[in-house]
Amino acid sequence: MSDEHKTVESDTSRHFLKQWIAEDVAAGKTGGQVVTRFPPEPNGYIHIGHAKAICIDFGMAQEFGGQCNLRMDDTNPSKESDEYAESIKQDIRWLGFDWGDGFYSAANLFDKMYEIAENLIGRGQAYVCDLTQEQWKEYRGIPTAPGKESPTRDRAPAENLALFRRMKAGEFADGTLCLRAKIDMSSPNIHFRDPVIYRIMHVPHYHAGDTWCIYPMYDFAHPIEDAYEGVTHSMCTLEFEVHRPLYDWVIDRMDEMGLLVVRNGVKIRPQQREFARLNLSYTVMSKRKLLQLVQEKRVDGWDDPRMPTVCGLRRRGYTPEAIRDFCERIGVSKYESQTDVALLEYCLRDDLNKRALRRMAVLDPVKVVIDNYPEGRTEYAEAQNNPDDPAAGTRQVPFGRELLIEREDFMEVPAKKFFRVTPGQEVRLRAACFFTCTHVVKDAAGAVTEIHGTYDPDSKGGNASDGRKVKGTIHWVSAAHAVPLTVRLYDRLFTVSDPMGDETRDFLTFLNPESLKTVTAFAEPAVAEALPGQTVQFERVGYFCADTRESVPGKPVFNRTVTLKDSWTKETKK
Ligand code: ATP
Ligand code: MG
Repeated sequence: MSDEHKTVESDTSRHFLKQWIAEDVAAGKTGGQVVTRFPPEPNGYIHIGHAKAICIDFGMAQEFGGQCNLRMDDTNPSKESDEYAESIKQDIRWLGFDWGDGFYSAANLFDKMYEIAENLIGRGQAYVCDLTQEQWKEYRGIPTAPGKESPTRDRAPAENLALFRRMKAGEFADGTLCLRAKIDMSSPNIHFRDPVIYRIMHVPHYHAGDTWCIYPMYDFAHPIEDAYEGVTHSMCTLEFEVHRPLYDWVIDRMDEMGLLVVRNGVKIRPQQREFARLNLSYTVMSKRKLLQLVQEKRVDGWDDPRMPTVCGLRRRGYTPEAIRDFCERIGVSKYESQTDVALLEYCLRDDLNKRALRRMAVLDPVKVVIDNYPEGRTEYAEAQNNPDDPAAGTRQVPFGRELLIEREDFMEVPAKKFFRVTPGQEVRLRAACFFTCTHVVKDAAGAVTEIHGTYDPDSKGGNASDGRKVKGTIHWVSAAHAVPLTVRLYDRLFTVSDPMGDETRDFLTFLNPESLKTVTAFAEPAVAEALPGQTVQFERVGYFCADTRESVPGKPVFNRTVTLKDSWTKETKK
């Protein structure tokens, strides 16, 4: 990166892309419409890093009243499939973005790319090279010393063309020949040293079928796709910065060939700019690594709720709003950094707090017996569905003589500032009444099996008629009405914040063996009716989402979406 570059782009920090586009709009370079694109390769499910790129690509188009295309960058048929392409569309729609009529596929341009390649050959700007891969690497050299020219670099265009056509006809085996752009073997930019633009690959394409056995390289295909779609602003991650001269070179050649789109009298010259990719702590983001996790069954598929994939986050209970808010907060810059996953969790809590209905569920139950409450009687406590949203209304929660509470809400010998259940201390049973523990029953091993106590009949609804206060409020469920439910307690998939950071150890050694714990919890009856995908807050415990694959009304399975403990605000307030 040149110094001039650094100043300009760091000065404008977060919004350098926005400023760049605004300047081009003002200069009339867009022909009246900003066009961007999101160009995934359909070789895996998209992840939270892609969500950042999606928010930028679609977000910038929205900001300028333009269009963002969705383009399958499918130039490497060995790993691509329709399953991936379809999942990408679904995930982008779910995130809340729309490409309208702008759906494209690199494969639809294979004919045109081939034509351009022939054209380059004819102009003496590309040649067929027969160096082996090893030789090619050796000839290319290192950035500090010029590379060596391929022996066939100056072969006559007619001969190159004949060879290229034979490559296309399938006469040669994979890896024997390739087509290279004739640019500059002494360029300090290694990508400029006669890059390969076509390779032989006898592999059918998931869309183009077996029409082709030669495929364009990404660096050649991408600018061509951008140019044909009339893309004005092509944004990608920083690793492509060193490819930008080659991108511009291809655009220049297309310009010379008269192939650039003209919009409202303005010739559209696509330009590329780069931003830092999203790296998240405790997370592995590369599609290759995620595929490995899936293939080796370290997780339960691409949409395992521990995966950073968009479908995994969705199944975990993430909302599109939370993800978009996160992408907004992390901003856009040119500096590589790692974002704390706690920020993502913070954005999720912030969103769910507003929309999730409150319910009571006990994850690790111990029985409470209210000795002064009549046996067999059921009353209903009126509980708020969401204290932050009066419109969410209330619900009736059954209450009786025997309850279940959280084991950790009881201490026989209370620690300092323990305001929950302990002999002689009055607490509030949420929305129901005041309760005071009198004694406990233990098993032979000394573990508490029953907590006995009394309630105050003058505290119905959870407030004493004489106005006295209690310091602790706990959740509970009626033992007679409790609905058992399977709850999967997810934790981070990796034990270290940078699982890819240790070059001496495989990232799999950092898999968290505790990332999934399954328990049977007991909940108030309303929970049983949750629809798959619905997220609720189990009061004082966390947010939980009814699993979209396995939960059915009447037989609920809940995934823990996120705990209530916020480590983000705490960290940042320090
Ligand atoms: P990965 O590196 O995870 O395998 P990729 O770069 O191979 O992903 P593509 O399908 O080629 O995946 O990416 C589509 C777009 O998403 C590209 O423009 C790329 O720059 C962007 N992108 C990929 N990963 C991230 C990330 N972590 N943060 C931001 N943008 C990303
Ligand atoms: Mg890629």
